[in-house]
Amino acid sequence: MIPSSLYIHIPFCASKCYYCDFNSYVSTGEVMDRYLDALDKEIELLAGELPWRPLETVFFGGGTPTMFDVRQTERMMQILHRHFRLAEGAEVSVEANPGTVTPEKLRVLREGGANRLSFGVQSFNDSILKKLGRLHDTLTVYHSYEKARQAGFSSINLDLMFGLPGQTVEIFADSLRRVLELQPEHISAYSLKVEEGTPFAIWQEKGKLHLPPEEDDLAMYRLLIDTLAAHGYGMYEISNFAKKGHVCQHNQVYWRNEPYLAAGAGAHGYVNNVRYVNLSSVPEYTDVCLSGLRPVAGQETIPEPIQREDTMILGLRMIRGVEYSRFRERHGVEMGDVFGGVIEECVKKRLLVADQVGVRLSRQALPIANEVFAAFLG
Ligand code: SF4
Repeated sequence: MIPSSLYIHIPFCASKCYYCDFNSYVSTGEVMDRYLDALDKEIELLAGELPWRPLETVFFGGGTPTMFDVRQTERMMQILHRHFRLAEGAEVSVEANPGTVTPEKLRVLREGGANRLSFGVQSFNDSILKKLGRLHDTLTVYHSYEKARQAGFSSINLDLMFGLPGQTVEIFADSLRRVLELQPEHISAYSLKVEEGTPFAIWQEKGKLHLPPEEDDLAMYRLLIDTLAAHGYGMYEISNFAKKGHVCQHNQVYWRNEPYLAAGAGAHGYVNNVRYVNLSSVPEYTDVCLSGLRPVAGQETIPEPIQREDTMILGLRMIRGVEYSRFRERHGVEMGDVFGGVIEECVKKRLLVADQVGVRLSRQALPIANEVFAAFLG
């Protein structure tokens, strides 16, 4: 249980999308420079104070890490290597938005060890992109994708969304067709969730947000699963699909309920059974780090019963589910002794499949996975 994964949050975006509740801000180059100073300090403290092994996975998420200019991007990668050692063949992912990558920036990322790029595409329909408040259009997606390939990225994820305002099943099918033409190694696709405090939530309250009916949302999800399966993408998590050898290792750490370090404003980490969260405000985060302290806003030791629930709820997100042996190794008890009743009930309702290896969601449970997860909560 010694972490070998690190998440680094870069909380800057060119503008704020209407549905977004992530910790991200529109900012200036000067603020970003100071943020990098602070990140450097925090990562130094983190590497000195917490246990870690040579990193197997690193994930630069956001926000939009590619909002940094070339010099700042170089610094971002240097900060990582200054304080941490990476394992041979480590996966280093960087989130990017179409329109924010240049050949120079991509070269610097590659030279800094990045080997996986994840583009927030969301849709290949310009009118829907506008409704989401995204700055890019479809043409920009093609240009950015091409640049990434030219820079040598051979593992690319494209994020899609469904259940969007104005989106029909046909429009989503067209986005799927276009994503498949590009042949990325990995595809993530999420149903829109209207989050509190976002413009979408306000418009929904006023009756001004017109989302597709639930049956269309479901039809889009089914279409996604069937289409990607037919084109050689293995579904390995409720929302994630990959060609052979391109499963995202970093995200699997979360779903296996394993420990990870995290740095950056608002980042969440999990070490020694303690979950911690950093200050989310960029000025506060920056000031605290630069005063030589870790910017932890709160932390909580997770009691063993909650850890067991987490292992089930997070693990069932993966198509392979949770193996009995893994549960036993992690918690020192049999899964059946803790959750036998819940599992039996869910198997009866055909929401879970239990075999000799472990338990996993049934196909019919995939769209209503949250209901199954709720059954595991004490
Ligand atoms: S690009 Fe991503 S992080 Fe930035 S505002 Fe849009 S959804 Fe949020």
